[in-house]
Amino acid sequence: MKLPIFLDNHSTTPMDPRVLETMLPYFVEKFGNAASRNHAFGWAAEEAVESARKQIAKLIKADPKEIVFTSGATESDNLAIKGVLEMYREKGDHIITSSTEHRAVLDTVKSLEGKGKATATYLPVDKFGMVSPEDVRNAITEKTILISIMLANNEIGTINPVKEIGKIAKEKGILFHCDATQGVGKIPVDVQEMGIDLMSFSAHKIYGPKGVGALYVRKKNPRVRIASQMDGGGHERGMRSGTLPVPLIVGFGKACELCEQEMVKDTARLIAMRDRLEASIMKALEESYLNGHPTTRLPGNLNISFAYVEGESLLMGMKDIALSSGSACTSATLEPSYVLRALGVGTDLAHSSIRFGLGRFNTNDEIDYTVKKVVEVVTRLREMSPLYEMAKEGVDLKSVQWAAH
Ligand SMILES: *Cc1c(COP(=O)(O)O)cnc(C)c1O
Repeated sequence: MKLPIFLDNHSTTPMDPRVLETMLPYFVEKFGNAASRNHAFGWAAEEAVESARKQIAKLIKADPKEIVFTSGATESDNLAIKGVLEMYREKGDHIITSSTEHRAVLDTVKSLEGKGKATATYLPVDKFGMVSPEDVRNAITEKTILISIMLANNEIGTINPVKEIGKIAKEKGILFHCDATQGVGKIPVDVQEMGIDLMSFSAHKIYGPKGVGALYVRKKNPRVRIASQMDGGGHERGMRSGTLPVPLIVGFGKACELCEQEMVKDTARLIAMRDRLEASIMKALEESYLNGHPTTRLPGNLNISFAYVEGESLLMGMKDIALSSGSACTSATLEPSYVLRALGVGTDLAHSSIRFGLGRFNTNDEIDYTVKKVVEVVTRLREMSPLYEMAKEGVDLKSVQWAAH
């Protein structure tokens, strides 16, 4: 076993060596521009791009013509939301989204609101982080033109009832955008069955290269139109100008193909390792709480709050394991995760949370090591905590009158 261990697979994933191998020829020998129509270099590049487009479309049950390449899911979210708002301005300006979306969605919607270009409803989630389809239905007004709800959450892994939301959107004739970055390649995704009109996803979250992603844009029932956000050569059917990064696209295609072929096997392995990690930690450490849905959750996700322990201190104590804490380091303050707060997790427990993100290349030995380390460090930190000592002695901490400084 090699240290450090990477258990932060929601933030990015290591590239699969098989993906790299397919990319390599496209950097030097096959360097053509896919938009060059009149020579063999261009044709070879175009052929590679179109073959990747097919691999990507197949994974989500789309038509290859419905795939628009972008630089990643952040750009896809921006293009979908701003593109729809601009294109359908006469129909209305209201967006329905949720409070636990990724910043790429939330900040895009907030930016449009700030410029007076949109109005928005941010739906709450239940204690497991799930959006209620009925809440979506009730939030619809005459001015609603877009519903943007994520498939699976990047912090707690909770999977939303996307199919039900898609059905409501269709029934009401409203476009449905889904940020599926954490779900595509990990759980089955079918844009037809789920009633999705626009969908964002990214290569580097599924063992592909960084810097490439896609926006699925429905072509039929209905034919979705979006205003381009970049002016230029009119690539990608006019929706996203810019020379295509052929090697990255080839890698993205291969990454999707591997996910499709290995999803069943990977999922079973990940669930077994994740459940063992969860059970071992919970058994050894009292007052540890699971965040997110107990079952309707991504296979590789485990988010736990350890009462009386600062997540940041816990991470400092385990520098040989790469993990994320539920505290987002913003410019001046250490703020607890807005996702955990939206579930109703208190500030203290939100600051005590750790996200374990398991992926394709993690091993059982790494999980064993992680259990041992987490139990050791949490126990040590608690032994040093006066609050934990008081709680153990039966003092009701809420009743304590703290002395003023
Ligand atoms: C990672 C992530 C993004 C951003 O993707 P990039 O390709 O890094 O821009 C957006 N949404 C979700 C849910 C993510 O997990």
